[in-house]
Formats: sequence, structure tokens, C-alpha cells
Amino acid sequence: MEQTIEQKLRALWQLQTIHTKIDKIRQVRGELPMEVGDLEDEIAGLETRIEKIRGELDELEDSIVNRRNMIRDAQAAIKKYEGQLNEVKNNREYDAITKEIEIQGLDIQVSEKKIREFEFEIKNKTEAYENTQATLETAKKDLEVKKGELDTITGETQKEEDEFLKQADEAETEIEDRLIRVYRRLRTSYKNGLAVVSIDRDSCSGCHNKIPPQMQLEIRQRKKIIVCEHCGRILVDEALVQEAESPAVA
Ligand SMILES: [Zn+2]
Repeated sequence: MEQTIEQKLRALWQLQTIHTKIDKIRQVRGELPMEVGDLEDEIAGLETRIEKIRGELDELEDSIVNRRNMIRDAQAAIKKYEGQLNEVKNNREYDAITKEIEIQGLDIQVSEKKIREFEFEIKNKTEAYENTQATLETAKKDLEVKKGELDTITGETQKEEDEFLKQADEAETEIEDRLIRVYRRLRTSYKNGLAVVSIDRDSCSGCHNKIPPQMQLEIRQRKKIIVCEHCGRILVDEALVQEAESPAVA
């Protein structure tokens, strides 16, 4: 089957149209996994934070236990020294023991102050712990909803995409290998995936550079395949695009 240039251009434009639809679907779907990923990161961060607070609370509890033990030891020491006071032989001994009792008393005061500080910190950290826990619960619920949405949308768009992929395969069989290779190379070299573009306000709609009037004329004649002199994309005229949109006319 020998195609006219016009038929080749129509086939190329049709393939491009199908591929553009596929690109749009993938783009829309591409943002959802990102949102899910963000939520998963947030949850991981909150869990780490909760673990850290939990560890700090444990440490504070341990510190209080240590301080209570120190107080108990100091009280026992005081009791022992008070017993010794009844048996002192001279003033020097009396002073030394009184001094020890005084030191132990100060130690108890320090420990009591520390315990109050630790308890205050525990109160604050418990509050932070509960708040973080609540935020985590909310994030987990959000994630569940988002994952459900993602599954639904992926399922729906996958069906659509598969249908377009089938159409693209069929459209490709209408195009000779040499042109398909050019088309594929162009499609992969541009981020927007456009290999075939139309004239738009005297410009290439791929790179927006002006197309000289003589060249526009040749494009409209559809007698040879013309590529944009700036970006190399294959150019089709506006009428061809319109006819492709309403196939009844074409
Ligand atoms: Zn161009």
C-alpha cells in the first residue's frame, strides 16, 4: 500500500493525538502516588517522633526513680548520723557529724528539686506525645482514604490507558517504519512528548518559533513532510487538525 503524503500526515497526527491522551492520563495518575508517598513519609516521621518522646519519658521516669533512691539513702544516712550524735565524745566529733547531716539534707533538697523538674518535663512531654499521637491517627486515616482513591483511579485510568494503547498500536501499523522511527525519536526527545504539531498563529506549536509564509504554504499543500527548522518536529496544518477532530468531514 503506497500512501500519499497527506495520508501519512493524517496517520501521524492521529497517532500523536492518541499518545497525547495517554500522556495526560499518566500525568494525572502520577500525582496521586506522590500524595500517598508524602503521607507515608509524614506518618513515618510522626512515628519516629513518638518513639523519641517515649524514650525521653522512660529516661525521665528512670531519673525520678534514681533521685528517690538517693533521697532514701540520704535519709538512712541521716538516721545513722543522728544515732552517732548520742555517742559523741567531743565537740569536734559533734561538729563533723552535724556537718554530714547538713550535707545529706542539702542532697535531699537537690533531689527533690530535680524530681519536680522531671515531673514538669514529663507533663509537657506527655502532652506532646498525645498531640503527636492524635496527628498520627489523623494522617493514618487520610492515608487510608487516599490509598482507596488511588486504587479506584488507577483501576479506571488503567482501563482507559489500555484502550488508547491498543488504538496507538493500530494507528502505528498505518505508518511506515522509517517515519515511526523519526516519530519515536522526536517524542522521546521532548518532555511534552509532542512529535507532530500544528501551525498555530503562524508559529510552530511545539517550540513557538515563527514559520516562514512560504513554508506554511508548503505545509498546507501536504505534498511533502516538513519539519520545523527550529525544533525538528513534524508540522501539520490547522485544517488537517480540525478534520481529524470531526472525522465525518474528513
Ligand atoms: Zn518548532
